[in-house]
Amino acid sequence: MKTKTHKENKVNVVTLGCAKNMVDSEVLMHQLQANNFEVEHDNSKSDANIIIVNTCGFIDRAKEQSINTILAYAGEKSEGNIDKLYVTGCLSQRYKDSLEEEIPEVDAYFGTLELPALLERLEADYKHDLIGERILMTPPHYAYLKISEGCNRTCSFCAIPLMRGKHVSKTIEALVTEAKKLAKDGVKELMLIAQELTYYGLDIYKKRQLAELLQALSDIEGIEWIRLHYAYPSKFPMEVLEAMSDLPKVCNYLDIPLQHANNAVLKRMRRQITREETVALIEEARRIVPNIAIRTTFLVGFPDETEEEFQDLVDFVKEMRFERLGVFHYSHEEDTRAYDMQDNIPAEVKADRANRLMEVQQEISAELNQEKIGKTYKVLFDRIENNYFVGRTEYDSPEVDNEVLVATKDNYVRVGDFAYVEITDATEFDLYGTLVKKQ
Ligand code: SF4
Repeated sequence: MKTKTHKENKVNVVTLGCAKNMVDSEVLMHQLQANNFEVEHDNSKSDANIIIVNTCGFIDRAKEQSINTILAYAGEKSEGNIDKLYVTGCLSQRYKDSLEEEIPEVDAYFGTLELPALLERLEADYKHDLIGERILMTPPHYAYLKISEGCNRTCSFCAIPLMRGKHVSKTIEALVTEAKKLAKDGVKELMLIAQELTYYGLDIYKKRQLAELLQALSDIEGIEWIRLHYAYPSKFPMEVLEAMSDLPKVCNYLDIPLQHANNAVLKRMRRQITREETVALIEEARRIVPNIAIRTTFLVGFPDETEEEFQDLVDFVKEMRFERLGVFHYSHEEDTRAYDMQDNIPAEVKADRANRLMEVQQEISAELNQEKIGKTYKVLFDRIENNYFVGRTEYDSPEVDNEVLVATKDNYVRVGDFAYVEITDATEFDLYGTLVKKQ
């Protein structure tokens, strides 16, 4: 039975998954708005008559969340609370046929690269003149810049190439145009994202061009911080670290998922790098950029991972003392090379290993944060929360890393502004401080 009224020609875009999916939703929303649709994002109380779910299909938990979201809106449609339900993104790309069978309430399923077809289905035109333009879903002072799509790597556990296809770089010109528009709209910080950032340019320029892209983006007035996410360790282009050292706008921050550190596991994962090469890379990065903050991600519970192999990873984390670290549980994904192996590490062992690794990291992070007390950092303020101005240093990316908290009592700074903060206290994942100088 219909339980609410809805507005015609209004679209609620629901985004699941990573920042790359978010950028796709931002582009979709801009195209819809240019076709006179009213658009909103992730509004659970929406009165829109059209829902578009942009799904994630990365690992089991993400797939479950995507399916539950689709089912929830399919229920809304059956009750007459919405007119149309469309699904796009990675889960739809990967499982279109079975989804069409299992959840027929959905009006249509689209793949990750089918924006024009989705618009056509809504009787909207794909406006080529708007390429690179989008409606930001991030706070107006920072934005994600997706520099390429797809991935040519063959990591045995990863389904992303199945959903995003081969690596396709955007041109430096197109990215500079996109970034200039963002800067004009008030963006000060750019997070560069891709499936595999360091591969940038190899397809269209036949050579790695990430350092050249950093130079071009650094020349853009208004952009103050440029941050690197999703770098790949094997054959890492060292000129990128030189650029990070030379270009003040490039944050001394590198997100580089390593996945493991035991040679036998790295081999089974097809990561094309050894522990020794990884250590050499990290040490060289810390030599070229002495105060670099390195974020990494590990995968625990890969098929046949022994307690010894896991302990080897723990020892590596203790030795390398990463500034930022995340852990994923191995997810047995169809059509990946690892799917031919046995998913023989029990879920509770995966969870236990992930917890043990994060406990080690919590200690390291607490020690590293203690060393920051008494020092002064440039901070970009993102929001006000619980009587604190909340911001980040150049060593912290939004939503995943540490934050700097400055009491609203006796301090004042505008959200979206930079200011200098002297650190007075620290916990394992946050810093507290007072404003010392406004820029
Ligand atoms: S580089 Fe990343 S996206 Fe590409 S296959 Fe490996 S894990 Fe997947």
